[in-house]
Formats: sequence, C-alpha cells, structure tokens
Amino acid sequence: SFHRILKEEIKQEEHLGPGTRTNIYSGSLMVKSIEEDEENGGNSSSQQVKVVLKVLGSGHRDISLAFFETASMMRQVSHKHIVLLYGVCVRNQENIMVEEFVQLGPLDLFMRRQQTPLSTPWKFQVAMQLASALSYLEDKKLVHGFVCAKNILLARDGLDADEGGPFIKLSDPGIPITVLTREECVHRIPWIAPECVNSMSSLSVPADKWGFGTTLWEICYDGEEPLKDKKLTEKERFYVMECQLATPDCEELAHLMTDCMNYDPKKRPFFRAIVREIVNLPDKYPSFKAQPQTG
Ligand code: ATP
Ligand code: MG
Repeated sequence: SFHRILKEEIKQEEHLGPGTRTNIYSGSLMVKSIEEDEENGGNSSSQQVKVVLKVLGSGHRDISLAFFETASMMRQVSHKHIVLLYGVCVRNQENIMVEEFVQLGPLDLFMRRQQTPLSTPWKFQVAMQLASALSYLEDKKLVHGFVCAKNILLARDGLDADEGGPFIKLSDPGIPITVLTREECVHRIPWIAPECVNSMSSLSVPADKWGFGTTLWEICYDGEEPLKDKKLTEKERFYVMECQLATPDCEELAHLMTDCMNYDPKKRPFFRAIVREIVNLPDKYPSFKAQPQTG
C-alpha cells in the first residue's frame, strides 16, 4: 500500500533529533524523472530532493507493523498542509519513512525563538491551516493521533508583510499510541485525549480535537510547554480531576480551545465547524484575510 524506496536511493546526513523510538535525520532522495525529449526519444534523468529520514532502528522490529500503520495513513493523504511521505525504505534491519523536508522546523521551537511577539492574525492563520488539515482527515475518517506544536512544521514564517503569512505542514504522528507504554501515554498529557490514557483503543477522530485544543494553547502562549514542570503523577491527577489549562488572553482562540478540550469526546466540535469559526474571526483584525483551505 505504500511506495517502496530502495536503500541505494537515499542518502543519510545530519541527525536532527530523537523521536519516540525513532531517530530523525536529514538526507536526500534520488527522484527519477523522464524528460520528454523528442530528439533523444525520451531522456531519463535524476534529481536529488532534500528529505527527512525517520528511522526505526533494528532494536524496535517488534513495533515495525505499528510504524507501517503510520506510514500507510500518511500515504493516503494529499493535502498542502500535511507533510508529504515519499515512501518507506527497508535498510538492512531498519525501517525508514522518507518524508518531505520542511525548512523552518517545528513550530514550538520557532515560536520560542521569536524576540518580537507574533501577531494575533499570524496565530489565526496557523490555527486555520491546522484546522483545515484536520478537517480533511476528519472527512476521510483518518486519525492523526499526536497533534501538537512539535509535530507542526513551518515551511514559511511569513514574517515579512509581502510573504502572505505563515505556511505550516502537519508532520506524521510517529509510532501509534497503541504500542506505547502507559507511562509514555501519561507523559503525553495534556496532548493525549483523556479517554485514551487508560484505553488506547479509544483513539478516534475526537481525540485529535483534544490535541488540537492543546495545540491552540501552545500557539497562544508562543510555544510554551503546557504542564511543563509537572511530575507524571501530577499529570495523571490533572485528567482524573478533569482540570483545564489556563485560559489564554486571546479570547477567540481560548473559546475554541475549551470547546475542543471537553472531557466528553462526543461534545467536541467538528473540524468543519472549527474552520468556519476561524474564517469568521477576523472582523476585528483587518490584516487577517483567511481563506477556507481545501486539499
Ligand atoms: P514523535 O513520535 O515524538 O513525534 P518523531 O519521531 O515524530 O517523534 P519529532 O520529535 O517530531 O520526532 O522530530 C524530531 C526532530 O526532527 C524535530 O524536532 C525536527 O527538528 C526534526 N524534523 C522532523 N520532521 C521534520 C521535517 N519533515 N522537516 C524538517 N525537520 C523535521
Ligand atoms: Mg513528530
């Protein structure tokens, strides 16, 4: 169900960091293109594209099926705000997802680096693009499973007025929570939906709405980490007591956030409705001209 990439077609370069049971590298992929050239009767040439290699090491072969589940979900999607998966490569004992390289890296780090505050319209645009990607997944009944600012990559920061604003791409979720330990799940509080902590099989589209709510919080607070200094037992208690994160100053996003972070999964709004709400936000913000975005 996914495109196989030969190990000779990829080159591994710099280590970008560890993921959950994975390691991420920059690298390049050789892409063949057939040029229509009448005189030479069709010329085959190849081109290098910059990619990211998400490597599941040989020590984790027991979860390779779960890793391929993520790859097959990513293969089914084609959306301008979702990272492109080129294919999967099996290199000796390692399994590798080969993905589009996104220039400016993860959103949380980007936001934390900024010296001058990011504008509200900028944040609306990021929220809108993420909601449009998740609305697309919702229509296809696909679950992402780990929506967070770290998994949003920035292709363009749009800080110059003539750049047309930011442009994000939602990254893959990594290995599914179904193969994580309970401790790893608790560690993902407050991104993991409350219903998933004790029963990973509860993972469904409403869980992504909760994660979207948490991500809105991160966006409002410029990439700050929610419940940062909390111990695992405190995180666990946070959900047991049905607590809520601090309400951001940005009223419009705060309201969306609390709608999404409802402890009852059935009461969370549809992404389609969320997109519509964000489209209707800007009356107070003349510089924000959002367009509903489709695939
Ligand atoms: P997790 O399952 O926890 O999300 P992961 O395997 O997805 O783990 P990340 O933590 O999301 O790994 O990614 C590790 C680092 O690799 C990121 O902080 C980012 O710097 C870089 N990275 C990941 N994907 C890309 C990409 N498509 N383009 C550029 N950099 C990337
Ligand atoms: Mg990730």
